[in-house]
Amino acid sequence: MSDSGDARVRVAIIGSGPAGSYAAGHLLRHTATELHVDLYERLPTPWGLVRAGVAPDHPKIKSVTNLYERTAEHPRLRLFANVEFGKHVTLADLRRHYHAIVYAVGTPTDRAMGIPGEELPGSYSATEFVGWYNGHPDFRDHEFDLSGERAVVVGAGNVALDVARMLVLTRAELCVTDIADHALDVLSASGVREVVVVARRGPAQAAFTNPELRELGELTDADVLVAQDELAIADALVDPSADPTAKRNVEIMREYSTRQPAGRSRQVALRFLLSPLALSGAGRVESVTFARNTLEPSADGSLRARASEQRLELPAQAVFRAIGYRGTPLAEVPFDAEQELIANEGGRVRHGEYVVGWAKRGPSGVIGTNKKDANETVERLLEDLAAGRLLDPEPISDSALEEFVRERQPQLVDYAGWQAIDRHERALGEPAGRPRVKLTRVQELLDAIGLGGDD
Ligand code: NAP
Repeated sequence: MSDSGDARVRVAIIGSGPAGSYAAGHLLRHTATELHVDLYERLPTPWGLVRAGVAPDHPKIKSVTNLYERTAEHPRLRLFANVEFGKHVTLADLRRHYHAIVYAVGTPTDRAMGIPGEELPGSYSATEFVGWYNGHPDFRDHEFDLSGERAVVVGAGNVALDVARMLVLTRAELCVTDIADHALDVLSASGVREVVVVARRGPAQAAFTNPELRELGELTDADVLVAQDELAIADALVDPSADPTAKRNVEIMREYSTRQPAGRSRQVALRFLLSPLALSGAGRVESVTFARNTLEPSADGSLRARASEQRLELPAQAVFRAIGYRGTPLAEVPFDAEQELIANEGGRVRHGEYVVGWAKRGPSGVIGTNKKDANETVERLLEDLAAGRLLDPEPISDSALEEFVRERQPQLVDYAGWQAIDRHERALGEPAGRPRVKLTRVQELLDAIGLGGDD
């Protein structure tokens, strides 16, 4: 990048996951003004949930990083990774140096069930399990006891399916992926024989997408079970306005309910109309008590679960809640506490500040959904640029700005640094035919590119 850019229009994006990467791509394609984008990332590694959320056995989904790499290689983009907003750089710093700031920080926290026993050992959030098997440094040292035979997964979304699949894939299936080595060892030695995925509403209301649900029926070492009687009760409650995905989901589950178990060593059972009421056990989870539900129309026309007096107690030694995520406030950034998101209108937060992705709309949609979402926000930002409504930062050259950030964080990982980490991880994976072996501690990642020393 040339250094003569005192009058440059600069945008800082906070977060290099799909939403931040798509926003960067849209900004860089804008032709009326040449925008300069600095992509800040808390971890030494980019791509957010593509690296740390997408299941290891879904390499095709991960290949979207090829697109993000092309964006990151653009001459008007710099990656400032291992730099934390609020710690190394503050909002005031960014408002002093950029015309606009775009938050792309996701919704990092799991939702709690809010029931007795939820804190017992053996009760886990999908967020921590997913972060752990994907080698996210924050979850590196979490421990999961998978010695019991039955695991319950609460929730009927794609994260619940990811968790269920990861619990029943064979070592042979896992060891050709980029799963973190520590998780490969624990999952390979797992005693789990049955995974019960529990929905509080019926099959037609499940949040699964069709390919993910279909994949469950194609597992090498696990039979998928759907009880015909439960499906029949739920069938009576099918929402006539159900969308095509929901209708197809019901068809797939009907087909599952007709299958004879093929005697595979593990099972994944889908259960419906059950809400968790309590986890119980002497010092650790031993069972889950559910209320059996009926469905009733709610004010917005959708069907919601209503608990009956009937109870079901299911012995289980591990319970994973996969019931969605929520946003957490960023220092000094307006937060909508009710929706648990960064407060915004169509992506505008306030003068000079914008938001994209899950932090803007909530934790919904697939990776590609963030493209349209980021585009909407970038359109707002460009309107504000055209109308002279962006911030009015102090002029600074490219190199002086980078120097300023490096002073705050001498262990800044730039794009070349990430490429070196990437090459290193891929080389580690090569002898075993794996896409990569992930380095799972911040220190290891920095050491790999000679940036060692304490954070
Ligand atoms: P989700 O799709 O919103 O599903 C959450 C599930 O939790 C719903 O079934 C919901 O039921 C249930 N739930 C919520 N609160 C509950 C409670 N208190 N008790 C019992 N059940 C409760 O969320 P997600 O699975 O976390 O996924 C987040 C997003 O990432 C989704 O858009 C998903 O498609 C996407 N994703 C995609 C992939 C992929 O494409 N392969 C993989 C992972 C995630 P109700 O419907 O009754 O509220």
